Amino acid sequence: MSGGDVDRGAGDDLMDKVVNLCKRRGFVYQSAEIYGGFRSAYDYGPLGVLLLRNVKDAWWRTMVQLRTDVVGLDASILSPPEVWEASGHLTNFTDPLVDCRNCGMRFRADQLEDPDVCPSCGARGQFTEAREFNLMFRTQAGPVAGAGADVYLRPETAQGMFINFANVLNTVRNKPPFGIAQIGKSFRNEITPGNFIFRTREFEQMEMEFFVPPDEATKWFEYWCGARMDWYTELGIPADKLRLRPHDADELSHYSAGTADVEYLFPWGWGELEGIANRTDYDLTQHAQHSGVDLEYYDQQADERYRPHVIEPAAGATRTMMAFLLAAFDTEEVRGETRTVLRLHPRLAPYKAAVLPLSKKPELQSVCEEVLGLLQPRWMTDYDVTQSIGRRYRRQDEIGTPYCVTVDFDSLEDRAVTVRDRDTMDQDRVPIEGLAEHLDAKLGL
Ligand code: ATP
Repeated sequence: MSGGDVDRGAGDDLMDKVVNLCKRRGFVYQSAEIYGGFRSAYDYGPLGVLLLRNVKDAWWRTMVQLRTDVVGLDASILSPPEVWEASGHLTNFTDPLVDCRNCGMRFRADQLEDPDVCPSCGARGQFTEAREFNLMFRTQAGPVAGAGADVYLRPETAQGMFINFANVLNTVRNKPPFGIAQIGKSFRNEITPGNFIFRTREFEQMEMEFFVPPDEATKWFEYWCGARMDWYTELGIPADKLRLRPHDADELSHYSAGTADVEYLFPWGWGELEGIANRTDYDLTQHAQHSGVDLEYYDQQADERYRPHVIEPAAGATRTMMAFLLAAFDTEEVRGETRTVLRLHPRLAPYKAAVLPLSKKPELQSVCEEVLGLLQPRWMTDYDVTQSIGRRYRRQDEIGTPYCVTVDFDSLEDRAVTVRDRDTMDQDRVPIEGLAEHLDAKLGL
C-alpha cells in the first residue's frame, strides 16, 4: 500500500467544488448524514449510481465483452478464514499503525509527512512504536458466536477468482492465456480513510486475473500495463495527468514479481487508481497447498502440466469515478456568467440526453412523451420541466448530459426538436423521426 493522500494544498479549491457539486446534484452523499455522518463510507445518489455504474460497465465492456479470452465471475463477499490464511492476508495484509500519546489520534506511519510530528495536535516525539494492524473486517457467521464461526469481509475481489480457478476451467473452453474478471465491493479497515471517496472502508473494485503460461508472464504484464493506460485516456483522463509508476523492489507486495501503478494527478498529488501486478503462481500454489485441490492446467497438445502465472490489473471503481469527476470538471465564462460543465465522456455521462419542454403547457407534453418514448429504451434520459430553459441547460451542463433536446411550439408544426451540444453549446434542428439515430451517431457509443 502506498500513501500520500493526507496532505492537501493547491488543488483544494477544485476538490471543494467537486465535493460540493456531488452533494448538491446528488452524486455522492456522506453516509448516515442525518446521524452526523459516518466518515469512512459514502452513499451514491441518483446521479452517482448512474456514473458509477457507467464506470463499471465501461470496464466490463473493455475487459470482458470485447474480448474472447476473459470471462466474468461474481464471488461471495463473506469468506471463511481458510481463504485468507492461504492468500497470506491474515498475516500480511497490514499497515503500520502509530498512536499519538498526546492526543490519542491514530495514523498510518508510512503516510506521515514528518514521522516525528503528529499532524493532528503538532506534538513532537509522542508516537508509539509502529505496530502491524490487520485491515480485514472480521465478523461472525451463524447464530452461535465463538470458535469456527469467524468469517471475513473480503478486502479484495481477487481471491474469488483464484479459488474458482478450477471451477471456471472446467466450465469454459478457455485455456491460458485467459482471464477471469469481477466487479464488486471490498472492505478494508483503513487507519486513515479520507480525501472523499479516494480512500473509504467500503469501496468497489474491478479486478481481472489473467492466467498465462509461466514463460509468457513478462510479455503479458507489459501488454496489460499499456492496455490499462489506454482505457483511462480513451475515457477522457488527460495523458498529462496519468502515469505508470513501477514499484521499487522494497515496495512490492509479498506475492509480486513486479507491479506498476496507474496513477492520476489528484489535487493533492499523484494517487493510485490501479495496480497491475505480476503475481507469479503464488496464489494458485498457496490455494493448492492449503486446500489439497490440484490447481494446475493440463495442456493436452503439449502433454504438459503447469501452474499458470497471473497478471492482475486491479482497479478501484469508486476511486476511478472520482478521478473522472475531477478530470471532467470545468468552468468557463459565457455572456458574463460562469458556466460549470462536467465534460464527461458520453459513455460515462449519467444521462445521455435530457428532454426539455420549452413551456409547461399541456400541448407540448404529448410531443415530449413521444420523444421520451424514442430515447428512454436506448439510454438514460432526463426529463425536466422546471425553471427557465437557460437554467435547465446549465443544470444539465453541470451533471454532464451530452445532449439536451428541447421541444417547443414549432415542434407541433415542423415535427422537429432542437438538439443542444453540451460542449460547444451549438444547436441543431433535428426531425423527431430521425432523432434517435442522430443522437446515436453523435454519442458514438
Ligand atoms: P493504496 O496504496 O491506495 O492503499 P492498494 O495498493 O492497497 O491501494 P490494491 O490492493 O492494489 O490497492 O487495490 C486495487 C485498487 O483498489 C486500488 O488501486 C484502488 O483503486 C482501490 N482501492 C484500494 N483500497 C481502497 C480504498 N480504501 N478506498 C477506495 N479504493 C480503494
